[in-house]
Amino acid sequence: MNNAHWLERSRAAVWHPCTQMKLHDSGALPLVPIARGAGAWLYDFDGRRYLDAISSWWVNLFGHANPRINAAIHEQLACLEQVILAGFTHAPVVELSERLAALTDGALGHAFYASDGSSAVEIALKMSFHAWHNAGQPHKNRFLCLAGSYHGETLGTLGVGDVGLYKDVYAPLLRQATPLPSPEARQAAPGETAADVAQRAAAALAAVLETEHASIAALIVEPLVQGAGGMLMYDPEYLRQARALCDRYQVHLIADEIMVGFGRTGTLFAHEQAGIRPDFLCLSKGLTGGYLPLSVVLTTDAVYAQFYDEQVTRGFLHSHSYTGNPLACRAALATLDIFAEDDVLTRNRAFADRFTALLRPLATHPQARHFRQRGMIWAVDIATSAADFRLRLFREALRRELLLRPLGNTLYLMPPYILSDSDAELLAERTVAALDAALA
Ligand SMILES: *Cc1c(COP(=O)(O)O)cnc(C)c1O
Repeated sequence: MNNAHWLERSRAAVWHPCTQMKLHDSGALPLVPIARGAGAWLYDFDGRRYLDAISSWWVNLFGHANPRINAAIHEQLACLEQVILAGFTHAPVVELSERLAALTDGALGHAFYASDGSSAVEIALKMSFHAWHNAGQPHKNRFLCLAGSYHGETLGTLGVGDVGLYKDVYAPLLRQATPLPSPEARQAAPGETAADVAQRAAAALAAVLETEHASIAALIVEPLVQGAGGMLMYDPEYLRQARALCDRYQVHLIADEIMVGFGRTGTLFAHEQAGIRPDFLCLSKGLTGGYLPLSVVLTTDAVYAQFYDEQVTRGFLHSHSYTGNPLACRAALATLDIFAEDDVLTRNRAFADRFTALLRPLATHPQARHFRQRGMIWAVDIATSAADFRLRLFREALRRELLLRPLGNTLYLMPPYILSDSDAELLAERTVAALDAALA
């Protein structure tokens, strides 16, 4: 069976995500059938290969078909694939919850599971409101978010998001949160630092909280990097001030680390760089090393205590069928083992320095604006008026064995943590070649 075979069947039967399907049928947007993966590379049915420079939508950390994660899943498969988590428990979910709590130094010691990022955000929003409700403050039922924020695409998460492309048509269905100025560093005026922009955004947050805190349950943020909004990066100072303001005005801080968690920004969790802890921490994507759908909301003893009561309806009566799936939890434990055994964060730091140097031709490209990097995320805005730049770059990258998927005019690289130096060189060189071809 070759590529053409699977393309035809997929186009007829599969409705692909985040895609205008007509672009596939017209050929403007190639659909790539993948037969197998190994490390940072994906292979199609015709023998071509693609370097997975976006970690398969930001989920993969240690490569495809990683032997250690494979082995852990195989072992779990032989003993328990799934069991209801209401009224029952199992070793992988207990061990994972303990390990995650320890990774927050016990500050976030209660783990509530779901299967995808959006569901985790929904849970954090519901829990925040319900905790205030149980505390006798039911009027705290609004949320604050940042301009350009992305927290998922279910109706609840679109309400706290601010990316028009995904949201605008559904506006009549949404309960819109209040978007606040983003601290993202591109907004610096000449002579201003990223910390100055953060300071200004924090002042705007303070002004809103001062007058409206009585009706606000939580502020939700993507710590340090706003992903789907365009890989917008900001100074940790914003998180420090947001934490202090949330404390002062009795508002929860929800950290959506679905993209930035597990080392993406250089520390295990991004909020660590601000020396703070959120009230809710949403994790998914890299949680299982990119293997299986799993998400979790970690929260504090104080929040947990608000639900702990004789009365059933004061409990958090929320569930998903596959909550805490044992195979997914086992994959997550194997992923945490790799972090612990391989000193991944230190290795990534050295890699990131080398790769940033390799990307100098991209950073200094005549049409490049605002080249930026944090941890294992690199991004640059491309100055072009071509409406189809995104599609052109995607096609030109595929021709050069790269999987790149720009966000609008923002080209970003978010490779798995196992890239070899020779693959890093190949990625850096061919990214610029693909960019030049797309702009030609
Ligand atoms: C991907 C993402 C989500 C949504 O996760 P899904 O698993 O796609 O539902 C939420 N927040 C952020 C910051 C994300 O990057």
